[in-house]
Amino acid sequence: MRRKENNKATHGVGEWASHSVNIQSGCEKNCKYCYAKSMAIRFGRKTPSNWNKKPDLNEKAIGKGYRKREGRIMYPTSHDITPRNIEEYLTVLLKLLESGNEVLIVSKPTLPCIKRICEECEAYKDQILFRFTIGSANDSVLKFWEPGAPMFQHRLDCLKLAYKNGFATSVSSEPMLDNRIDKVVTKTMPYVTDAIWLGRVNQLRQALSINCPKDNVAKKRGDELLAKQTDTYLSELYESYKDDPKVKYKDSIKEAVGLERPETVGLDI
Ligand code: SF4
Repeated sequence: MRRKENNKATHGVGEWASHSVNIQSGCEKNCKYCYAKSMAIRFGRKTPSNWNKKPDLNEKAIGKGYRKREGRIMYPTSHDITPRNIEEYLTVLLKLLESGNEVLIVSKPTLPCIKRICEECEAYKDQILFRFTIGSANDSVLKFWEPGAPMFQHRLDCLKLAYKNGFATSVSSEPMLDNRIDKVVTKTMPYVTDAIWLGRVNQLRQALSINCPKDNVAKKRGDELLAKQTDTYLSELYESYKDDPKVKYKDSIKEAVGLERPETVGLDI
């Protein structure tokens, strides 16, 4: 398949949302591949060792008002929702919703947090789309790459909870952390109302060299993962799901298999 050149194609958060909101610097989940962590270290806001130990709440972002914005807001984008920040998270979420915003809630979810959001935001159900990140159905893989995040069954239970409460639900398998992403698709699909997104692991070597520079095991496993996610592999993956309208592809896969790559932010297609 011919690769479609497009240097202006949206990527990352821009593929899903027009705006982003965050209330914290640092994240307890401490994913080895985390782009937000690598940026915070590069610009001197955090170190590899304190990123997960001392997340700082942004009081200004929590205290201010939020007007209605055009297009969907992704919240959060550079931290997660945790039992430690759930009250502040909800304060801002409710302000966004009360102003009429549509919010994409992206998380490696924990049950108490998703339960609270479902309870507190029942009246705003139509403005919310949950997107739970699940890059593997294998707990040992999740534990290695995302040491502070819940295991597969826990994330699946969160998805079921949101689905059973009548919220719109989706899954992000970006980055895919092994070559058995079909297991994630099969197990989550019954509880997905919107889409399952597949995405290649991006800029992994750079992130690992900043986030965990002395971790040779991560470097080796990262190289193995990159070696598996070839254009041929991604094309085969695309072929196996191309007739399923609920499976969508991040820019990294669109580019590899030659799909149209949107230039407008927030289209979520
Ligand atoms: S959950 Fe997200 S923000 Fe937190 S460490 Fe992992 S990738 Fe980074």
